[in-house]
Amino acid sequence: MDFSESPRVATIVRTVREFVKEELLPIEPQLARQGFPALLPVLREKRERARQTGLWAGHLPEEHGGAGLSLTEFAHMSEELGRTPIGHYVFNCQAPDVGNMEILIEHGTPEQKAQFLGPLVRGEVRSCFTMTEPEFAGSNPVWMGTTARKDAGDWVIRGHKWFSSGMDGSAFAICMAVTNPDAEPHARASMILVPTSTPGFELVGNLSVMGHRGGDWASHAEVSYQDARVPLGNLLGGEGMGFVVAQQRLGPGRIHHCMRWIGICERALDLMCRHAATRLLAPGKPLGTKQIVQQWIAESRAEIHAARLMVLHAAWTIEQKGPVEAREEISLIKFTVARTLQRVVDRAIQALGGLGMTDDTPLAFWYAHERAARIYDGADEVHIEAVARRILRRYGIQIG
Ligand SMILES: Cc1cc2nc3c(=O)[nH]c(=O)nc-3n(C[C@H](O)[C@H](O)[C@H](O)COP(=O)(O)OP(=O)(O)OC[C@H]3O[C@@H](n4cnc5c(N)ncnc54)[C@H](O)[C@@H]3O)c2cc1C
Repeated sequence: MDFSESPRVATIVRTVREFVKEELLPIEPQLARQGFPALLPVLREKRERARQTGLWAGHLPEEHGGAGLSLTEFAHMSEELGRTPIGHYVFNCQAPDVGNMEILIEHGTPEQKAQFLGPLVRGEVRSCFTMTEPEFAGSNPVWMGTTARKDAGDWVIRGHKWFSSGMDGSAFAICMAVTNPDAEPHARASMILVPTSTPGFELVGNLSVMGHRGGDWASHAEVSYQDARVPLGNLLGGEGMGFVVAQQRLGPGRIHHCMRWIGICERALDLMCRHAATRLLAPGKPLGTKQIVQQWIAESRAEIHAARLMVLHAAWTIEQKGPVEAREEISLIKFTVARTLQRVVDRAIQALGGLGMTDDTPLAFWYAHERAARIYDGADEVHIEAVARRILRRYGIQIG
């Protein structure tokens, strides 16, 4: 692996860092006071400016309207954008749209690309991904209740989903539904494109998460499919291919998430250091003179550095060998970086004292909402188990 920063990466990092500092950090207080939906008109303007940087939808190939960055290059961009809760949204590379765009590019028919992908890449619409169900353990995704049956040239979908992030205000959902109930478990489900205006597609409501219901992109919905009918042509990828496609979505997606989390850690450490240098415990005695605060700072620095190297190594492995060969690296970063994130944000809040609990900094927002990092994209325990199982296999033990 080459640890030198290419001129291209240096330019990307400089451009995005400057943009975040000049355009996005100043509107964070408004976001905290008024919430995401109220900020939409301002964000629309910011998105226009983001387009002009040439880094719009950085993760996508140029022929599909993106900036054509490699996975590693986009990883650096994702870190910079992660320093603010709205960075990815402004550059149109926010979850879950980022993964949905990638699936549509890889598996969409020309008609699906024209109808769904084009408007998504141009930032005219948003989308969501409806897979998890309240009645079934998401950690065993092959076990689900939502079905799609064929009837008179249509798919008829019936089921109950929740944690459909960003569903509120989105134009379409990618629905994971059982289409082949008699096939072996990993070949039972398919992905189907469902416009949210389809009769029978119902937003039950946004879930209250850590005391916030949120709205628009910044929300997680409960959704009901009540015999929602879409044409057979809305099948995305082959019939029974749902899990194969989902796996492809998750590998690079974890790099994006982990680098975003590292961006959060960097911002938290920066806030901690600024406070340690300026908060006086007594005249002439800043907080940073206390050894325990120095320890929080040094440990955070070391953990962030280690996490970043792990993620870049995983991204490099995906680029060199493909996501299947990089499975172990991907699982390792998922639970390692999620834990680093939690520790660093927690230390920063502690260092800021009461200020850390207020919404005057984004720390409290991240403490509440990024707790989920250990749960989504596969609960940490699932990844831990997968890594241990692979290691023990080399010692002759077969588990599961
Ligand atoms: C903020 C947020 C956003 C999300 N966005 C989306 C979205 O856009 N679309 C979507 O479809 N889903 C989404 N999800 C759902 C997410 O994918 C699931 O929550 C996740 O897969 C876990 O499933 P579950 O919640 O049903 O927990 P369960 O599967 O019921 O697991 C509960 C707990 O059991 C433990 N556990 C599970 N398996 C094992 C194991 N093998 N060994 C040991 N312990 C284990 C873990 O600690 C886990 O947290 C989101 C979730 C959150 C919190």
